[in-house]
Amino acid sequence: MTGSVPGHASVQLNQVGHAFSPEHPLYNGLTEVLEDDQIYAITGPSGSGKSTLLGILAGWITPSQGEVRTDVKSIQWVFQNPHGVARRTALDHVSIPFIAQGMTRHEADSCALELLDEFGLRSVAQSPFSSLSGGEAQRLMLARGVASKPDLLLVDEPTAQLDRKTADEVNRSLQALAGRGVIVVIATHDPQTMAMCTRIIDLADMASTELEDDIHATDQPTASVPGGRFDPNSVTIMWREAFREAWRNVVSGTTHAASWAAVLMVITVLLGGLDSFSVRTVVEGAVNYQNQGGATWVLEASGLIDGVACDSLASVDGILAAGAVRQVPPGLVTSLLPRTPVPLYAVTPGFAYILGVHSPSPGLGIWVSSGVADRYGIEVPGVLATPGGPVPVGGTFDYPADGRSGELSFSIAAPTLADDGVFDTCWFTVWPVDESLVALSRIAVVPTQDPSVISQVTFRQLNMALGSSYDGLSDFANRPSRFASWVTLFAAAGLGIVAFWSRRLEHASDLHAGIPKPFILLESLTETGIWALSGAVLATPLILLIAGHASADAASIALLGVRPLLTGVIGALLGATLGVLLSREHQLFNLFRNR
Ligand code: ADP
Ligand code: MG
Repeated sequence: MTGSVPGHASVQLNQVGHAFSPEHPLYNGLTEVLEDDQIYAITGPSGSGKSTLLGILAGWITPSQGEVRTDVKSIQWVFQNPHGVARRTALDHVSIPFIAQGMTRHEADSCALELLDEFGLRSVAQSPFSSLSGGEAQRLMLARGVASKPDLLLVDEPTAQLDRKTADEVNRSLQALAGRGVIVVIATHDPQTMAMCTRIIDLADMASTELEDDIHATDQPTASVPGGRFDPNSVTIMWREAFREAWRNVVSGTTHAASWAAVLMVITVLLGGLDSFSVRTVVEGAVNYQNQGGATWVLEASGLIDGVACDSLASVDGILAAGAVRQVPPGLVTSLLPRTPVPLYAVTPGFAYILGVHSPSPGLGIWVSSGVADRYGIEVPGVLATPGGPVPVGGTFDYPADGRSGELSFSIAAPTLADDGVFDTCWFTVWPVDESLVALSRIAVVPTQDPSVISQVTFRQLNMALGSSYDGLSDFANRPSRFASWVTLFAAAGLGIVAFWSRRLEHASDLHAGIPKPFILLESLTETGIWALSGAVLATPLILLIAGHASADAASIALLGVRPLLTGVIGALLGATLGVLLSREHQLFNLFRNR
């Protein structure tokens, strides 16, 4: 026996009585001194208040009468139903209290093995908890209770749920509780269990009887368990063991990491994907608005547009393109259909950007609309046959009937120098929509003092079917999915809490075994981190796939889409932290008391 075995703790009950309601008193005047190295049986029929008395001894229930004096520092409970972690080994269960005392895994395992031996469990040390028989599981709980080296061990009906043979097996191993310097109190109505005890407190007649054959045996084998309660010097060991415990829990399937990762993946893909999709819609709306000419304005002032001034509008911030146009009657006469000339326009070089000319050889030849290219079978680069000889074609442009004014839909544009005469209209694209920039385009009109000329100047939007303004920014800011990251944060936090809560009994019993909360926090954060990151990694390609289909701004859309991945991981970790902070050793007691 080592010096670390606790000294002479005792519990004094002084005229203790309790009643949950005044009409139904449980007992009165209970006076007793409980000392170490004794095994007390608290007996009485079901409902007589045995479990309640254990709660009073633990200090978790305040008796309605009398007082309890105690110098007990640590208490361990063993409940009627053995509770363990299904996929962890018997050995793991008994090693935990030793790790809580600051031992390395290796030291803890060897102490635990010795103890398992004393409770007749050596052969099942490596078996998972789920494979133990009822008797083995109950003996494991006793070994685990002893491993924590409490001053007071409270055992509630250890054989009540067992058949006779198994109960005998457990009763025999109760002897292993003696001689450890521990006050053992067993609530029971099993005569065989009582026979293993040194004193009996019968709640039925309130009499405390001393047994003749006191089996109080100082020659009982004792586990040689070095170390005390948690020692701050062993913090490093604890850290490492917390990570290892987490890893064992993940590998053994105890954490259900794969399922939680899958759930988080689905949440992030749904929310991140939804947001990516709606941002994509907003961006595409803006792109369409521009492509269809919603952002293009036409300044009309027949014979009064200065081509150079018009082209130079494009250098103004917010004006994406600008170019001037003048119709050249009667049009271009072609050899194929000489009687119907194709409408011809002289345009400034800047107009190429307004039209979006697809030109493999810029600056060379005329630009034809796709309607003309189709009708005359023109390839680019190529030529258009005219009575005056072949005219080189430098490019084509699309001018769809999408609601825009149709003058250029079947036409030829001949690029001209910007200072070659005056033009009739100046076209310019303003993005984002800005009325003051539209007004600014008046500088393209040649200077004049004549008021009748000034009044001729008009503006029109090229495509009025799209509405006069497009507020992409507010569409973006007001998109319903803008809270996706926050929703993911909360959903993942909920998931983290549920994942932790589903194992609350396990954590409560770890707390009971003396494992400090920081250990459980580190362990849980590691476990949660593993499944949350896995979920995020699995979700990433799917979100990128949704964002990547965007026609513009795919990178920034993807960046928005991955934000829920980040908040998902953070949320899960926050949830686990909250779970740890809310977990209480009492949960263990409450759960068993409420059965
Ligand atoms: P035993 O363990 O001997 O079967 P308990 O100590 O569990 O008995 O319960 C004694 C009596 O007190 C029972 O009638 C039970 O229903 C009642 N009781 C137990 N806990 C509470 C409580 N928290 N509030 C009210 N009554 C309770
Ligand atoms: Mg009970």
